[in-house]
Amino acid sequence: MYTLQKVIARLNDTHRLNAPEYRQLLLDDDARNDHLLHSLARDAALSVFGNGIFLRGLIEVGNHCRNNCLYCGIRYGNPNVRRYRLSREEILKCCAQGYSLGFRTFVLQGGEDAAMSDEWLEGLIRSIKEAFPDCALTLSLGEKSEDSYRTLKAAGADRYLLRHETFNPGHYARLHPEEMSRDNRLACIAALKRTGYQTGTGIMVGSPWQTVDDIVEDLLYIQELHPEMIGIGPFIHHKDTPLGDMPDGSVDMCIKLISIFRLMNNRALIPATTALATLDPEGRKKGILAGANVVMPNLSPACVRGNYALYEDKAHSGAESAEGLDELKKELQSIGYDIVISRGDYPGDNNDKEKCIM
Ligand code: SAH
Repeated sequence: MYTLQKVIARLNDTHRLNAPEYRQLLLDDDARNDHLLHSLARDAALSVFGNGIFLRGLIEVGNHCRNNCLYCGIRYGNPNVRRYRLSREEILKCCAQGYSLGFRTFVLQGGEDAAMSDEWLEGLIRSIKEAFPDCALTLSLGEKSEDSYRTLKAAGADRYLLRHETFNPGHYARLHPEEMSRDNRLACIAALKRTGYQTGTGIMVGSPWQTVDDIVEDLLYIQELHPEMIGIGPFIHHKDTPLGDMPDGSVDMCIKLISIFRLMNNRALIPATTALATLDPEGRKKGILAGANVVMPNLSPACVRGNYALYEDKAHSGAESAEGLDELKKELQSIGYDIVISRGDYPGDNNDKEKCIM
């Protein structure tokens, strides 16, 4: 057998590879190998989740941010952003709308905003969990102290998404301002795990100056961390950032990585991300057929969606939106999948008492 096929088969069997093997896999561009990788990954996801795709309702709670990440459209230094912050009532309204549509997980994402204090967030989390006790709540609100993470967990948050973006400290430093560091990012992720969150991390694929060796480091980090959720999407430029002239990431590389992560952990929750769907109209389907099992339609109030522009032309309508659920459903059915109404926890956690196909 051709050696790379053996490497792929071993990843499928043992769920791990070493650095030179990952490197070889990433550099390979033989379509037959990609085909093998995608189909094994798809089978791995099917064996754990069947043909059910989990929904997460993404509520973009605000775009005020103290950080100045060089790639991000809502960075502090972008004067062209119309800043907003949703009120508790607005967020609860989004959840109610989402609940009636079948969402059982809400993701609160936003910039790092001191005005959304721990106290305020605690109150918000408690009211969401009180109103929707059968729903899971995911936070994606950036770097905080371990104490804060613990407080928010105690208030009822179940999961936390914090992509490490890139493991290599030198690469991390080129993408972020001086006051941010790779070490602090990793320390936050470790704190989230210790605190008991279902933890998600991940990278931007094709971010400026990213090398294959950088991605190998990301793969090894995630292999050891064993996070419950792995979120990856292509880098997409935003004209009002210092990296506005840089080329966008590759959809093919993103899909290849989805498959590698799936084979690393059959049970991981892996979204076909909005960034993937933004760069390629077939991106969502390609992601699912390569092993992704989660989609995150936008549940934010329509009037603020345009202001949460992390990158150019970010998709937030049609199948990327809560009101486009029928379109999404049809799209998934066209490739043999269905939306599942459930919290969609990491398998092994016995929270999914009631589960039904939509
Ligand atoms: N403040 C939160 C949420 C950040 S936005 C946090 O720090 O985690 C969520 C993700 O969007 C980021 O982790 C990043 O990976 C991604 N993102 C930001 N800018 C992007 C861009 N220009 N292209 C693609 N993805 C981007």
